[in-house]
Amino acid sequence: MSAANSLCDNVRRGGENGATNVEIVMVDQKNYQLYTPFLFQSATGLVDPDHIAQPVRPKARKKGFDFVEAKVKSIDLPSKSVFTTAGKIAYDYLIIALGSVKDDAKMHGAEKNSIPLKTLEDSEQIHNRIIYSFEKASLLEHDNPERSVLLTFVVIGGTTGVELAGSIYDYINLIAKDYPQIDVHSEAKVMVIEAHDRLFPEGDKSLSDDVKQTMEKRGIEIRVNTKVMSIEPSMVKIQDGSSIQSANIFWNAGIKANPVADTIPDSVASKHRGRIVVDDHLRVPNFQEVYVIGDVSAALASPEPRVSSREVAKSPDAAKHQVDHKSSGEKKSVSAHRGRYAPPTAEAAVEEGSYVGRDLALRLYNNSENEVDATKSAKPFRFKEKGVMLSIGRHNGLVKFTHSTFKGYLGWLIWRLVHVALVSTMQDKISVIFDWTFGSFRKRNISQFAVPGEAIENIVGSNSSGRETLVEQEN
Ligand SMILES: Cc1cc2nc3c(=O)[nH]c(=O)nc-3n(C[C@H](O)[C@H](O)[C@H](O)COP(=O)(O)OP(=O)(O)OC[C@H]3O[C@@H](n4cnc5c(N)ncnc54)[C@H](O)[C@@H]3O)c2cc1C
Repeated sequence: MSAANSLCDNVRRGGENGATNVEIVMVDQKNYQLYTPFLFQSATGLVDPDHIAQPVRPKARKKGFDFVEAKVKSIDLPSKSVFTTAGKIAYDYLIIALGSVKDDAKMHGAEKNSIPLKTLEDSEQIHNRIIYSFEKASLLEHDNPERSVLLTFVVIGGTTGVELAGSIYDYINLIAKDYPQIDVHSEAKVMVIEAHDRLFPEGDKSLSDDVKQTMEKRGIEIRVNTKVMSIEPSMVKIQDGSSIQSANIFWNAGIKANPVADTIPDSVASKHRGRIVVDDHLRVPNFQEVYVIGDVSAALASPEPRVSSREVAKSPDAAKHQVDHKSSGEKKSVSAHRGRYAPPTAEAAVEEGSYVGRDLALRLYNNSENEVDATKSAKPFRFKEKGVMLSIGRHNGLVKFTHSTFKGYLGWLIWRLVHVALVSTMQDKISVIFDWTFGSFRKRNISQFAVPGEAIENIVGSNSSGRETLVEQEN
């Protein structure tokens, strides 16, 4: 979306010198754009799901691009074709922004026995699961061991996991008064499990320790250096042989580049862990009419990645990447740098999108034939991370910019201000502020809109005594 917006704005800004006969088409399998940083708040009833899903069509009408709702099946760069469920689309220029998908293969049992947080549907499932567990637990006798399984909430991994756990903790404490049969303080448990020694694997250890302490003080159990081996029905198995029983397992530790990228052979475009490697202008080295941005792109960040000689020997693509950088006039080869690729974050995706809009519009100026003009382009792109932001529960946040860190209430306030500024429409900004404001006064939603499905029935069924009790009581 940010690429389409930027392209429309920049093409229009070109005025008489600008490209005149440009047709911009956005293809997406969904007709809305999701503001993911608020997904955990939607899972816990603080923000209305409608307010974080912005429909594409009004934007398309306003900016002047077309929209096609279709699923991309494959992309063929040599023939300049995108194959979709709505048919083949031929292009002169292509911007690939397919994002990432959850990677269940990384964890045995994750797909069947846990819920991720990646889509709006996932957030609704999490919401329903929490309520389902409360409803079922409230029916059981206090000495029934099933109660503690239903009232244990385990979030595995990731920065988003930390935010989700903080939000679940607030939520279950807020809804507690509607479940007088349950004593949330003594019976419910929220925990975060992280394999690394810190909560944000790429972040500062002292900041991570700070967040850990704050969350523990609030009553959330944090287990770092804890590697999950598998997720079984109603159970997380840990490497040290122990296990945790829970009917509410939320797995946030695995994403991978959208597999549609695999339909482009490595011989055509090189990949780094499934992400398409791009040059300084976010273009595919041998296909200068093709840009790749966001989670599916391996774009250089400052400082740049170090490619080891072993990696170069193993993959001629890595060597090619090195050569591409040299040929673009840079003195240093990639292998000489310490650093990394741009992280899979919205911040990087949005910056890359607006860069690509500028770069492509520049190339189209004075070029009515729409041919590639290599002499015109924006300055090389380098992603520079501005900081880390997270909300860890009611009035508690952490914001770290390059030279300053804000914690607690101030961190929480800045988190809210920055994120609401990033929501794309004024209507949704106002709606989210409204949700937050009235969230402090009104009761959180505890309606369960869908039965969580077979999985939860199996989970409950896996503990024999509890199953009998539930069946008896349901009858
Ligand atoms: C719960 C959660 C919280 C997050 N919080 C933050 C945060 O606080 N800060 C931050 O910077 N980042 C955050 N992120 C990461 C951020 O959402 C992503 O990095 C960002 O959305 C990537 O943008 P993208 O354009 O590459 O992909 P996406 O935003 O995922 O967009 C990809 C688009 O491609 C479409 N698509 C996918 N496959 C197909 C197909 N085959 N055919 C047609 N269309 C297709 C999708 O429908 C989607 O609209 C969070 C992510 C999650 C899941």
